[in-house]
Amino acid sequence: MRAIIFLLFVILVFLIIRFTLNRIIEIRAKNAPVKQEESETPSLKESEAMVQCALCSVHLPQSIAYFDGKDTFCSEGHMQAFQDKSTEP
Ligand SMILES: [Zn+2]
Repeated sequence: MRAIIFLLFVILVFLIIRFTLNRIIEIRAKNAPVKQEESETPSLKESEAMVQCALCSVHLPQSIAYFDGKDTFCSEGHMQAFQDKSTEP
């Protein structure tokens, strides 16, 4: 008789552990989509001012553009090339 009570106790403990694990998995699944929403915030960067390279006419964000005081460029090389071209007669 004692063995049956012990077995029932073990089954009860097992069910409690399973229920707790299911709850943890449920909470984690709910938290996961929230992180994905946070990853959308970099889209704010796309709304920053766009400038055009004076040499090749490519559009790029102002933060990564090169500015020589008058014109903007996509790279240092294009800035140099444009300045060399404009200084030539
Ligand atoms: Zn360029």
